[in-house]
Amino acid sequence: MTKPLNELTITEAAKGLRAKDFTVRELWDACHSVAQERNAELNAYLELFGVDTAAVEAAQTRINTEGESAPLLCGIPLAIKDNILIEGHIASAASKILENYEAPYDAFVIEKLKEAGALFLGRTNMDEFAMGSSTEHSAYGTVKNPYDVSRVPGGSSGGSAAAVASNGAIASLGTDTGGSIRQPAAHCGLVGLKPTYGAVSRSGAIALGSSLDQIGPFGKSVADVKALFDTIKGEDPKDLTSIPANAYPIPKTGNALRIGVPRHLIKEGIDADALEVFESTLTRLVNEGHTLVDISLPTSSYALPMYYVIMPAEASTNLARYDGMRYGLARRGATGLDDYLESRTEGFGEETKRRILLGTFVLSSGYIDAYYRKAEAARDVLREEYRAAFVTCDVIAFPTTPSPAFKFGEKSDPVAMYLEDVFTVTANLTGMPAISVPMGTVVREETTLPVGIHFTTPHGAEELLFKIGAEVTGEKLY
Ligand code: GLN
Repeated sequence: MTKPLNELTITEAAKGLRAKDFTVRELWDACHSVAQERNAELNAYLELFGVDTAAVEAAQTRINTEGESAPLLCGIPLAIKDNILIEGHIASAASKILENYEAPYDAFVIEKLKEAGALFLGRTNMDEFAMGSSTEHSAYGTVKNPYDVSRVPGGSSGGSAAAVASNGAIASLGTDTGGSIRQPAAHCGLVGLKPTYGAVSRSGAIALGSSLDQIGPFGKSVADVKALFDTIKGEDPKDLTSIPANAYPIPKTGNALRIGVPRHLIKEGIDADALEVFESTLTRLVNEGHTLVDISLPTSSYALPMYYVIMPAEASTNLARYDGMRYGLARRGATGLDDYLESRTEGFGEETKRRILLGTFVLSSGYIDAYYRKAEAARDVLREEYRAAFVTCDVIAFPTTPSPAFKFGEKSDPVAMYLEDVFTVTANLTGMPAISVPMGTVVREETTLPVGIHFTTPHGAEELLFKIGAEVTGEKLY
């Protein structure tokens, strides 16, 4: 094998391990040393863990004895976003308020990965509490995009994306509340999946917007993302919103898929060259035998305002638990109220405070009807609209983002930053699964940058996402 070990996909690494081309320890060392080397510049990891020799040896023994029937993820080194609990390790959600918070138990997804024999390289940098689209809101410094270090990797899971894109991890996990896996995947040339709401347990994920949050994978290929999803999904009694594997009927489709394109949404605000790549990707899919269907999703124009009412409302509620008493940073003032105020004033960053204020406002008794309840009602309309659209098409396609990765500081106006999520938030509002797959590149200031295509399907139809995604990347999955 000519590729350096850290550059392998999960599928390639699993094959090499079984063929005894290299050992689990060699694979770990290759990823760990590159991660360490690149971290000074990229800041993708908040912490790189030392080697867990017992876990490495257990994985090696399992591969030696079980061979082909060992889980695909056995011995594979992964990067984990800093808002997913790994027992005994810090989980800070890139916030000062949780700087020294040590996870007392494993998240459901970590349990699943441990059962499969996966290894953890470290915890990755992110926007504080997963609020942001650039990782500029981390309390521990920004993450650089490996394609161009003057640009953001996207966010909020920017560290998980940069770690894999720089070959400092084979694959990684992130969380997605409004696009935080798919958008950084697009900006870093990776595949990123936001599973169906409830398909992956949220137990052990630090809550942001509980009706929107999902944990999901980043990978260098669709096959890798599928392998991770298949490992971490499943019903969990500790998350009452989690669903059994066959909770939704699998839509019947032919081999040729009907791809719905909401042209009215992708007319404006998208860079011309990114749009060209999108169009030529669609043409390629048509040449493969798929068909394009014009669809209309009029309520989608309101998805962003809906999201930026609902999400801060849920965030302000979830973040109320950081009170200087139960978790994390504790400052003592003259009164109990001062304890609360001082801990939160010092512990939270600017964007977090902005969302708490916004969320508290839209939930306040004078405004809850005008904002929060109206947004929830609009969300029902949006869900219906998507359901109706899926009568005439099997998947819905649009570009993942309006443009490629932007420069640091370019979107310092919060509203400009929020516009970055215009295409991704609908999947969180409807609960439907969605994937971003690299579709090509554009050039900015003589640097080649990746751009992604985004597909959505009905609830529970991740397999369809993998099928269409593999058509774009040219992988043979089935
Ligand atoms: N960028 C979006 C936000 O700032 C989405 C964040 C996320 O998915 N966690 O809220």
